[in-house]
Amino acid sequence: MRRFFIDKKQAEKAEQSGMIVIKGSDVNHIVNVLRMRAGDCILFSATDGREFEAEITVSGPDEVCAEVRNVKLNTTEPAVATVLIQGVPKGDNMVLIKKKSVELGVCGILPVITEHTVVKLSPEDVLKKKTRWQRIAEEAAKQCGRGIIPEVFEPVAFKKAVSQRPEGELKILAYENEENNTLKKVLEKAGGSYRGSVSILIGPEGGFSPEEAEFASGCGFEAVSLGKRILRTETAGIAALAGIRCYFED
Ligand code: SAM
Repeated sequence: MRRFFIDKKQAEKAEQSGMIVIKGSDVNHIVNVLRMRAGDCILFSATDGREFEAEITVSGPDEVCAEVRNVKLNTTEPAVATVLIQGVPKGDNMVLIKKKSVELGVCGILPVITEHTVVKLSPEDVLKKKTRWQRIAEEAAKQCGRGIIPEVFEPVAFKKAVSQRPEGELKILAYENEENNTLKKVLEKAGGSYRGSVSILIGPEGGFSPEEAEFASGCGFEAVSLGKRILRTETAGIAALAGIRCYFED
């Protein structure tokens, strides 16, 4: 069933009235792109974990109305909330990283500007990119059946991002110079029943400087190797997230 997202207010209205009314860009997608009509069913994901199965009653140019048929709880969200802290890469690699990390269950993507970040972003670029990245995250979330749209944050300076992570979070630094510790060891130390959050820090093309690695370690990030080969920045996050999902089986 096709999936769309509704906000808290729409979910409350749906609960009270049994109806969901969609306006804005989703109308074009539903009516003109998917050509859905009265009688077709849509799954609406609310941000509180509920999902509303609803049947379209009105499929007009400006709005779509649907009658709620069933309410259930989302079952596709991972049990362990994971944030990808990603050194901003060159070109369009961030788009690939967004899409794949949403599929791999991240709840947020925090782009960071590091010493070796090549891309220079003006405030206008930041705004444009954030809007585009958020749209990409939403499309990926719809496609893979997520219960939420993962949050895409504005790029921030490395030190700020790293020093402001919540206490108690399992903080992991993917570091190609780490020789002994591995992702597997760190996850095993946390244990399969760990239900806190995890953040995974990935460097840009040029990697982290030794000073950055040391700073992250001072902020509680544990350096891990992701194997004997140097992975491209767009591969490293995907590989680490797949490892995390696989370990927690979520
Ligand atoms: N510094 C390296 C260089 O310029 O040759 C490579 C950086 S790598 C392309 C980008 C990022 O991916 C690294 O900063 C690290 O976070 C992650 N990464 C890649 N391979 C890794 C590995 N084998 N173990 C841990 N992290 C890795």
